[in-house]
Amino acid sequence: MYDIVIIGAGPAGLTAAIHARRAEKSVLVLEASSYGGQIINTPVIENYPAAADISGFDFAQSIYNQAVKLGAEIKFEKAIRIENTEYDKSVVTPKGSYKCKAVIIATGSLNRKLGLDNEDNLAGRGVSYCATCDGAFYKNKPVAVVGGGNTALEDALYLADIAQTVYLIHRRDTFRGEEATVSKLKQRDNVKFILNSTVTKLNAEKRLKSIEVTSTDGSTQTIEVNGLFTAIGRIPENQSFADVVSLDKDGYIIADETCKTNAKGIFTAGDNRTKSVRQLVTAASDGAIAATEAIKYIAE
Ligand code: NAP
Repeated sequence: MYDIVIIGAGPAGLTAAIHARRAEKSVLVLEASSYGGQIINTPVIENYPAAADISGFDFAQSIYNQAVKLGAEIKFEKAIRIENTEYDKSVVTPKGSYKCKAVIIATGSLNRKLGLDNEDNLAGRGVSYCATCDGAFYKNKPVAVVGGGNTALEDALYLADIAQTVYLIHRRDTFRGEEATVSKLKQRDNVKFILNSTVTKLNAEKRLKSIEVTSTDGSTQTIEVNGLFTAIGRIPENQSFADVVSLDKDGYIIADETCKTNAKGIFTAGDNRTKSVRQLVTAASDGAIAATEAIKYIAE
């Protein structure tokens, strides 16, 4: 029996683990893939207090080490369901079932896809969802980035240092991401903005050769690119828990700043809950709050 099982070892889940361990609660963190969450793909974090120039990977490593050093147990197993009774809870994975007093769901989200015909076939052959993982393959080659959020902007900036040309394609004429990054991109000669446009076709032989881009005025153009980096947002990973906690129409767990779900003793933290600002700092903040609320719940 653990005090708290935390599902997800991203910044929210690991911050929750740190706070719960400091309150001397026994903690198991379950992670389906690798720790760190989506921040590991961020080349440089510039908007986290007192960490002005750290890579996402180093940040993730540091927070993981901190949680482990404080005594959090981490298992690389995918939580497939939560069993919630009046007296206790269990988080079930393909390998076992872990009983606990409280659960924190901090599962983050998955890459959204463009939904184009051969997108899946071309993944790893020109189509990528991670600029820091795959950017180096495109040295001095033309690439495109799709999206208008912080991920797309940061990816475009990162790729501008590597690629010959970076086409930044966004479906509107204003960006959702930070203005400061847009300004930096505007100063780069090799970044070309293609606004009010979407990618409508991927042309390939064995690898991606070019993309068809369609403007909102109906005109199309073909752009030769070797790489297409898609950064059009993420889909929350909550479906496995939809029978125990309420989700909104987009699949986010409904919770306010207290990180409490509608199920007693089940909390949520990070990008997979309803909120207006999804940033590293708000994920970490959620982790601290969810752990504090879980500790209070156990005490009661
Ligand atoms: P996001 O903020 O949700 O932005 C997704 C972008 O993709 C939007 O510009 C959206 O356009 C566009 N889009 C969505 N569906 C599309 C489609 N089917 N076709 C074409 N374009 C589409 O996603 P994100 O950039 O991955 O960021 C996720 C969260 O992480 C955000 O809260 C972000 O601020 C945060 N983040 C933070 C940092 C940091 O703190 N350093 C770094 C990266 C990400 P519209 O704008 O028209 O909706």
